[in-house]
Amino acid sequence: MFENLSERLGGVFDRLTKQGSLSEEDVKTALREVRVALLEADVSLPVARNFIKAVEKKATGAAVTKSVTPGQQVVKIVHDELVSVLTGDEDPGKLKIDNPPAPILMVGLQGSGKTTTTAKLAKRLKERDGKRVLMASLDTNRPAAMEQLAILGSQIGVDTLPIVKGEDAVAIAKRAKTQASLGGYDVYMLDTAGRLHIDQELIAQAAAVRDVANPRETLLVVDGLTGQDAVNVAEEFDDKIGVSGVVLTRMDGDGRGGAALSMRAVTGKPIRFVGLGEKMDAIEEFHAERIAGRILG
Ligand code: GDP
Repeated sequence: MFENLSERLGGVFDRLTKQGSLSEEDVKTALREVRVALLEADVSLPVARNFIKAVEKKATGAAVTKSVTPGQQVVKIVHDELVSVLTGDEDPGKLKIDNPPAPILMVGLQGSGKTTTTAKLAKRLKERDGKRVLMASLDTNRPAAMEQLAILGSQIGVDTLPIVKGEDAVAIAKRAKTQASLGGYDVYMLDTAGRLHIDQELIAQAAAVRDVANPRETLLVVDGLTGQDAVNVAEEFDDKIGVSGVVLTRMDGDGRGGAALSMRAVTGKPIRFVGLGEKMDAIEEFHAERIAGRILG
């Protein structure tokens, strides 16, 4: 992930760290390149602009220490600023699941990795936290999606709500709630329907389910490869449904990392997890330090 951005920034900083002293002009030139690198990574323009401004301010005012070269100092300032922009939640991997059975609502566009992420998180809750989890698919328009969740459930040893033909999403959510209470589950996860685009029906259904389930967490799954689009999708979902966090998938791909940088700054919502592959263990809680390190290479 972030190969393009890392490479580009790596080149800029290589040159900087080799120089013994740094003029204001050097800093300006370097930051111009950083700005281009950020924009190429599909970071939104205002976010890139603010980022550069913050770094420039700190770099200009920074006292020069003897132990590091001025170049290294700029690198550190950029690193710290990246961490600051990326940081959202103090403990992103901790899901609010007290008062069992706790509902977790999963929302997102079709193909974003929502069903896969639902199963990955269920597995994580089961194995790391020892929780009993029930998963339910609400995608009544796509029987294949309901089947997919059932198959993943059996692979990871997590129960899924039996499929009843003809039920609507709200009825399934209610049945999941009842089943979770009666069955002594700690958590129940509602995998809502996805569409290719955000449309009225999608939002209406997610909102109706939200209103009956009263979820402890509403996690939006977005494809990290879609860059700025991912941020636009997040803004819209948050506006219409309200989300408690974002899961960025496909961060194993060599796409542009801009979505991660813009997400927090634009939406105000923390990235909670990143998806790193198709396998059921390929999920990590979001670490600003780790991502900043990867961006800088
Ligand atoms: P949904 O339509 O949003 O439920 O999407 P799916 O969960 O069916 O995922 C669509 C495809 O993306 C599947 O082939 C998944 O295996 C794949 N996928 C999901 N998350 C990731 C990820 O983090 N990395 C990669 N490389 N593939 C993923």
